[in-house]
Formats: sequence, C-alpha cells, structure tokens
Amino acid sequence: MSIYGDYIKSVIRTVPDWPNPGVNFRDITPLLQNSAAFRKLIDSFVHRYQEMDIDAVAAIDARGFIVGAPLAYELGCSFVPVRKKGKLPFRTISETYTLEYGEAEVELHSDAFQSGDRILIVDDLIATGGTMLAAAKLISRSGGQVVETATIVDLPDLGGSQRIREAKYSVFAVCS
Ligand code: AMP
Repeated sequence: MSIYGDYIKSVIRTVPDWPNPGVNFRDITPLLQNSAAFRKLIDSFVHRYQEMDIDAVAAIDARGFIVGAPLAYELGCSFVPVRKKGKLPFRTISETYTLEYGEAEVELHSDAFQSGDRILIVDDLIATGGTMLAAAKLISRSGGQVVETATIVDLPDLGGSQRIREAKYSVFAVCS
C-alpha cells in the first residue's frame, strides 16, 4: 500500500448494487474531481516506479488509461493500450478469460513493444483478478517482461491479487 493509501481510499465512493445487485462498485470519479487527490495518486505510482527502468506502461481499457497516460508521461516511457476485443485497428494478439457469466477478451497490438521490454501493467481495480491476469499473460506471450501489475484499489476478499501472485506476477495496490 502507498503512503497515501488511506487518503486515496477516503476519496473513492462505494456505490452499492451497481451495475448489478450485490456489487459494491468502487467509483473513482470523486478522486478524479479532486486535483490534489489525483496528483497524490499519480505521485504514488511515480514514486514506486521511477527507478525501475520501465519501458512501457500497459494500461487496461478503460479506467486504467486514466492512470496509465500521466504515469507514462512522468516516467518518460511509452504507453500501450490493452483494449477490449474489437477496438484496436492494426494486427492484434488476444487473451480470453472467464467471467462469472461467459467470457471476455483483451487485445494488444502485435507491435506494441519490443521483446524483452520491461512492462508495468495498470488498471483501476482488481476484483477476481481475471482481467489483470489476462493482460499479464498476453504481455508475457508477446515477449514483454511484466515488472509488476499495479492498481488503485485491490479487493483482497475476492481473491484476485492472490491469484495473480500465484501466477508469479507481482502486485501493487495503492489501497485496499
Ligand atoms: P476482475 O477481472 O474481476 O478483477 O475485475 C476488474 C475489472 O473490472 C477492472 O477493470 C475494474 O474496472 C472492473 N471492476 C470489477 N469489479 C469492480 C468494482 N467492484 N468496482 C469498480 N470496478 C470494478
């Protein structure tokens, strides 16, 4: 957890039963409205990764982009979008994963980075871990070295971060 973890957590809103009954949706829009909080969030990531020789920040569609773009800018590295199926126009490689009901797929451009590049993956939240794990597998399959998977919020009770660690990927969360 980051030194700003408790503060960041305090500016994230929980919306019960959205989008489905039983889901406590962690809404980051109050955090984004608060410029001081948003700066502390990005600074938390910059502080952790500025000495780690990151070649690219791979951000997951769509809220991962909000963090990934300023972070790549600050780290002076490239930005790689990991998108939902059917959104990327060039040659893609993809990874399918299981949802509670059905399947989903994440995609990456085949020329998104060089083999051996050091990649940091970012998203807003880890719940079951399926999305982050699919992105990590996709990047590993493409020849990238996954330095860490990073998120604003981890929901450890859902077991996702543990599942990602069991797959031998490191996990960093600003708050949980
Ligand atoms: P999962 O693959 O189950 O770890 O789900 C993570 C992805 O779904 C992230 O991209 C989140 O944006 C979104 N997500 C899942 N559960 C929530 C939640 N409770 N609040 C906000 N976003 C969520």
